[in-house]
Amino acid sequence: MSDGVPTLLGVPFDAASSFERGAAAAPGVIRASLARASSNHWTEDGLDTTSPDVMDDAGDLAIGPDASAAEVLEPITLGVRRLLDQGRRPLVLGGDHSITYPVLRAMRERYPRLAILHFDAHGDLHHEYEGDRLSHACPFARIMEDQLTDRLVQVGIRTLNRHQRDQVARYGVEVIEMRRWEGPPRLRFDQPVYISLDVDVLDPAFAPGISHPEPGGLSVRDVVATIQHLDARIVGADVVELNPANDRSPRSGMVAAKFVKELVSAMHRKA
Ligand code: MN
Ligand code: MN
Repeated sequence: MSDGVPTLLGVPFDAASSFERGAAAAPGVIRASLARASSNHWTEDGLDTTSPDVMDDAGDLAIGPDASAAEVLEPITLGVRRLLDQGRRPLVLGGDHSITYPVLRAMRERYPRLAILHFDAHGDLHHEYEGDRLSHACPFARIMEDQLTDRLVQVGIRTLNRHQRDQVARYGVEVIEMRRWEGPPRLRFDQPVYISLDVDVLDPAFAPGISHPEPGGLSVRDVVATIQHLDARIVGADVVELNPANDRSPRSGMVAAKFVKELVSAMHRKA
């Protein structure tokens, strides 16, 4: 059975961002970048993302500017569950990275076998961060605690402290650290895969519009090639942590839009 049409769902939430806010504005910027006349709507392998059979858009979740991470957990899970119930495949536009935990609660209900491929400069495995268990530094600790995935593979990581290395060992996370990078890997998954793509996995030279620039990262092509080489059935994805307030020119928004298009393409390769 098909997993359904990839469908955008904006989650304009950034109150769990530990350093600075701004990612709540990203869904609108990514949509504007997708539509920008400087580029076109086509994926690299020839799908037209304006075709409703290729990509659809469910709009943004209604989230008030003063909502807390605890208050948005349920609305985000419900919003994703609704898309899955409609037979669509969620492509979630963050927002800060805290949103991935409530998204995965809905994904796991639907997919009892599930793996996660996580692109990030950061492990986001803190048990808590500055007293906040729902911080954007913690979503993968919550996901592993709640057993929302059978396998977690992280790519591009370059900020592991001692606590996070302990968490990696404790939860059996498979980490392709940046210091060991040897070019885009050919990853294979037996389970359906959810891709969580934190834009700061890139070297900040490629996308300055983020909240936590961490030098020494991947190129746009490294990320696109890793997605294109993936041997997996992709059942959902998110693109998070774009912070338009820090962008110069539409550069980083265009990068996020590129990732959206190539994720759509990858979803259609095995459906
Ligand atoms: Mn992250
Ligand atoms: Mn990050």
